[in-house]
Amino acid sequence: MSSKVVILGGGVAGMSAAHELVERGFQVAVYELKSIPGGKARSMPVPNSGTEGRRDLPGEHGFRFFPKFYRHITDTMKRIPYGDNRHGVFDNLVEGSELGLAFFDREMLPFMAEFPRTFQDWKTVIKSIFDNNLGLSEHDVEQYVSRLWQVMTSCDERRLLEYQRIAWWDFIEADKQSDAFRKVFTGLTRILVAAKAREANTGTIGTVGATLMMDMVTPGSSADRLLCGPTNEVWIQPWLDYLTGSGVDYHLQAKVTAIHCSNGRVTGIDIEENGITMTVEGDYYVSALPVEVMAPLISRDMLQADATLSGIQTLASSVDWMNGIQFYLNEDVKVIHGHVIYMDSPWALTSVSQAQFWAELI
Ligand SMILES: Cc1cc2nc3c(=O)[nH]c(=O)nc-3n(C[C@H](O)[C@H](O)[C@H](O)COP(=O)(O)OP(=O)(O)OC[C@H]3O[C@@H](n4cnc5c(N)ncnc54)[C@H](O)[C@@H]3O)c2cc1C
Repeated sequence: MSSKVVILGGGVAGMSAAHELVERGFQVAVYELKSIPGGKARSMPVPNSGTEGRRDLPGEHGFRFFPKFYRHITDTMKRIPYGDNRHGVFDNLVEGSELGLAFFDREMLPFMAEFPRTFQDWKTVIKSIFDNNLGLSEHDVEQYVSRLWQVMTSCDERRLLEYQRIAWWDFIEADKQSDAFRKVFTGLTRILVAAKAREANTGTIGTVGATLMMDMVTPGSSADRLLCGPTNEVWIQPWLDYLTGSGVDYHLQAKVTAIHCSNGRVTGIDIEENGITMTVEGDYYVSALPVEVMAPLISRDMLQADATLSGIQTLASSVDWMNGIQFYLNEDVKVIHGHVIYMDSPWALTSVSQAQFWAELI
């Protein structure tokens, strides 16, 4: 008999775990609180928003940015069948060719998100390099590039042990630099998961920033990819269909309320489903719950079994929120073919004009 794995939470992490485990012959059950699969990546139809025979409009938490350097999720996507697509759901990714830097007081500065291929592309590149109306001095550029170069030429051990403990803000010595430096170069961290430069660590921001920039100047595909339609249509639902078709027992509207633990092992999970609470058991358990949901579920018995679980409680005390809003307009307003970063907004604000990428589906 195969071993049974109980997975708590049915977002991208829970679905990824289910995917890997079911393909390796495990029995898998997933328990998800919401009525729609996919967690923070899900799209939610807005009731009664569909007119003239159109389906209800999908509401998304935010845009779906799949940088070129992503390896794991794209590998999984290739293993999710979708119509006649040769590489499954992966073929539903489309490329954004530009990146826009927007400011309050001047025109948007376009950047190429891919290696320039046409005359127009080259014009954009040259304009963004030479038409430096960002107020950056030679020293500003030197400082930023030398810090980035330091991360790029550091060994993995240093990145993991040292840079994980230094805030990006401190590493680039942002306090000592000009206002223009702070605006431009700490603003760039915003496209990287809307991270705050003062808090995000150098290991993450430096490595991701350097990789993104390398991807932008390397010939081949663009550094920026998006989905060609609403997330649940072109990714999550086909994924759920594949998982359930492969034998995964995925429960919606099933709330994890307690984790039982004795003699150093998890022995069962309390699940509230249809108003009834039952205890489910497995040979193994995977928690793919948000950290702030998991923290209060950690009991004293669990901490005795593994003291490092207290790290989850520490992390939960500093959770910060990221939100998205989606506007549907009656006419397509051309902005830029890709993402826009709002450099001097008081929030870590980024946007995309989605219609140009979704055109065929809505
Ligand atoms: C606005 C926004 C924009 C983003 N944009 C991007 C992007 O462009 N590119 C990118 O790579 N990432 C992006 N992200 C991040 C990405 O969406 C998340 O990292 C990812 O979806 C997290 O997946 P997860 O499975 O770890 O967590 P979650 O999605 O949080 O999944 C956890 C699941 O557990 C469920 N759950 C909670 N409590 C219980 C309970 N008691 N019992 C059972 N189930 C429970 C939740 O309903 C949820 O489905 C964005 C996030 C946000 C919020």
